Amino acid sequence: MRFTLQDEEFRAEVRTWLDASLTGEFASLRGAGGPGREHERHEERLAWNRHLAAAGWTALGWPAEFGGGASLARQVIFHEEYARADAPARVCVVGEELLGPTLIAFGSPEQHRRFLPPIKAVTELWCQGYSEPGAGSDLANVATKATLDGDDWVITGQKIWTSLAHVADWCFVLARTEPGSTRSKGLSYLLVPMHQPGITVRPIRQLTGTSEFNEVFFDGARTAAAHVVGQPGDGWKVAKATLALERGAAMLGLQAGFRRDLDHLLEAARQTGAATDPLLRDQLARAWIGLEAVRAYALDTLGGDDPTQASVLKILWSRWHQRLGELAMEVLGAPSMVAQNDLDDWQRLFLFTRAETIYGGSDEIQRNIIATRALGLPRPQNP
Ligand SMILES: Cc1cc2nc3c(=O)[nH]c(=O)nc-3n(C[C@H](O)[C@H](O)[C@H](O)COP(=O)(O)OP(=O)(O)OC[C@H]3O[C@@H](n4cnc5c(N)ncnc54)[C@H](O)[C@@H]3O)c2cc1C
Repeated sequence: MRFTLQDEEFRAEVRTWLDASLTGEFASLRGAGGPGREHERHEERLAWNRHLAAAGWTALGWPAEFGGGASLARQVIFHEEYARADAPARVCVVGEELLGPTLIAFGSPEQHRRFLPPIKAVTELWCQGYSEPGAGSDLANVATKATLDGDDWVITGQKIWTSLAHVADWCFVLARTEPGSTRSKGLSYLLVPMHQPGITVRPIRQLTGTSEFNEVFFDGARTAAAHVVGQPGDGWKVAKATLALERGAAMLGLQAGFRRDLDHLLEAARQTGAATDPLLRDQLARAWIGLEAVRAYALDTLGGDDPTQASVLKILWSRWHQRLGELAMEVLGAPSMVAQNDLDDWQRLFLFTRAETIYGGSDEIQRNIIATRALGLPRPQNP
């Protein structure tokens, strides 16, 4: 990917806007809500995210007819500048980057009209209801059921690891709508309002001590019959399209923040004296090289539709970030092993990055995809 002169002008525009906007009431939000810190200052980040929306900085990657139309290069630039400015983590990511593009591809015109504008304006937040206690990597094992009752689907079952369900207004739910069906057949992709009596959200405490994800129980929850994306029973195809987004371009923003993490660690290494330790210097230089490689691979492959490349990228960035958390513990030495009243940013990064090789498809699953599709090896036997 090459950036043109016009792209660089766009970069200057983004930079100027962010610098001018992260002032006043938003100044103290810089750096808030990063990985492992999603609990931080949600209401203020929501206000900031609506401010971004009002200025036209949301849904950049959607097609122009839905209010987007930015080239991939400009999306990269936006996310790089966003990270450079230390702007707060956005609260709209699931709706904007996962559901929005899925709806644009598979939704009806009525669904576009009803659901896309509030996603873009950040007035409705979404969560993703895929995983269940018996259906994580093996997603086709989904057991949550939905049946039609008059004009409504009635949903019963349990989801788990549902990020941000406690603040979401809506959930896209993969549910079995054809009784007796198995595996990927007979599933539907339903859009379900979260604020109703049939839904209970129970937080799960994570390694970091906070609760970014939840269990979600559906006990006769209802949604309109029309709120099915694609044909009833054909939800697997739609669900897989969302997964492809999760493993691909949606990670742009996250990766852009890695440079900032590395810069902060280099600064810490200078302050602690670790920067003069030959072994740590070697590791820091390797981290820098590794990030250059991740960025080069991302720029080279983003926007493509090869699932193998998305799997390679997922493994590269998640392993790199996890290793950075480990390196931070080495740079900061023994004191980093003890939490004071609360975890510090490095401890939080170290602990949270354990999750990055699990969500969005674990490393093992990504390597299975690479082995099967890129190397032509036979599919693994289910144990
Ligand atoms: C921070 C975080 C946020 C998440 N957010 C969401 C969310 O918002 N919505 C949602 O629906 N889900 C979410 N998830 C769930 C995530 O998608 C699952 O955790 C993931 O798919 C793995 O499923 P599992 O946890 O059931 O593990 P399992 O599938 O039980 O896997 C356990 C272990 O076995 C390995 N394994 C499994 N199958 C194979 C195989 N065939 N070959 C080799 N190894 C295998 C796995 O790699 C893993 O190491 C989130 C997870 C995390 C950690």
